[in-house]
Amino acid sequence: MTTVRTRIAPSPTGFLHLGTARTALYSWAFARHHGGHFVLRIEDTDVARSTQDSVDQILASMHWLGLDYDEGPIYQMQRLERYQAVVEQMIEAGTAYRCYCTPEELDAMREAQRARGEKTRYDGRWRPEPGKTLPAIPQGVTPVVRFRNPLDGIVSWDDLVKGPISIANEEIDDLIILRPDGVPTYNFAVVVDDWDMKITHVFRGDEHINNTPWQINIFNALGAPLPRFGHCPIILGDDGLKLSKRRGAVSVTAYEDAGYLPEAMLNYLARLGWSHGDDELFTREQMVQWFDGSHLAKSPAQWDPAKLSWVNAHYIKQADDARLAALVAAQLARLDVKAEADELLARRCALFKDRCNTTVELAQWLTMYYAEVNPSEQDLAQHVTDAIKPSLVALAAKLEALAAWDAPSINAAIKATIAEAGIKMPQLALPVRVLVCGRAQTPSIDAVLALFSREKVLERLRG
Ligand code: GLU
Repeated sequence: MTTVRTRIAPSPTGFLHLGTARTALYSWAFARHHGGHFVLRIEDTDVARSTQDSVDQILASMHWLGLDYDEGPIYQMQRLERYQAVVEQMIEAGTAYRCYCTPEELDAMREAQRARGEKTRYDGRWRPEPGKTLPAIPQGVTPVVRFRNPLDGIVSWDDLVKGPISIANEEIDDLIILRPDGVPTYNFAVVVDDWDMKITHVFRGDEHINNTPWQINIFNALGAPLPRFGHCPIILGDDGLKLSKRRGAVSVTAYEDAGYLPEAMLNYLARLGWSHGDDELFTREQMVQWFDGSHLAKSPAQWDPAKLSWVNAHYIKQADDARLAALVAAQLARLDVKAEADELLARRCALFKDRCNTTVELAQWLTMYYAEVNPSEQDLAQHVTDAIKPSLVALAAKLEALAAWDAPSINAAIKATIAEAGIKMPQLALPVRVLVCGRAQTPSIDAVLALFSREKVLERLRG
């Protein structure tokens, strides 16, 4: 049996898009499920738009998501000789030919076709045919090389996602495979690479469905075995329109920055276009175990920020507190708040994480421990009344006298203060929260206070 080999082949013309990340995840999980190999290929033949910064971002995003690859990154621009050699073989075999049309000529050709109400396409003027006389080779024109696409017949494949697809060859023309500068076009380089890298299964976005017939024809012309193709539908924004830069974050890095955990992202992305029964939450190991290429959705999935938050909240609750501390310290730094990722921060994370959807929210809560607090006028007026001030003074004295600074001792001091003043818990707990934490709602007040230093609590209570 052949080994399963999959790949992800991003173009480094921007960050790793969520759609590409999802396809990468499916390719990775499929390879892992079958004990196969997963390859990362950087498709950098669009020299004008490819940047090292994009490559770096793509690699960082793959790393963050934990999508480890067995081979690569392989850069297409380092394989030019290979593509050129294959082109020469094809010209010799008669499956490709040089075309000397100038851009002006091609424009005129399209113009004339439009004027006749025809579909614009290359008219085959340099395509060799038995008995046909080709134009005289013009001086000073560096030719492109075109693929000699079959004129008739049907190209069909059984798509892993969409099912059977067929396109008639008369619908497609002879596409350029090598540019005058010797750089191959996408549709050609992708075939040579998938062939050389022995790719058995191609998962990619369905914007490539129209390219697939050309690619299949080129595979056939090369006598190369065909991979299976699976075209995943696009992801729609929560407004039902195509997810795009203009509508919310579409890069993986943006979600990392916004405080999402990679395991939440993977879980959410996996479910967006794939299902395993009713399972919503699963580990990457489970996904690998379950992902056999079936149950991929045929229709576009809609990005649902609320669901992503819910998934993230689940993983934040499960996350190790020392790990959260490191993430929260980084988020605090972005808020210009300095915090050590130490054991104390870990305990603070443990106390607050149940109420947070992201590590950004967690950092916002924990600023009370690392920066001055600014209670609102409204909270002060409502909760820190003249009537309660004597009890605050009494509580401060009791806290100062405590033998141990821990939640049970603090709790006892609060209870004693309440009992002496004949008031109810919220009457004291709310003003304490407002003064010490800067807000009226927090987790259990004794636990929250125990994670401050005693000095800080007294300073804030005494104002
Ligand atoms: N470079 C192409 C893209 O980013 C890859 C498509 C493919 O997987 O064949 O869309």
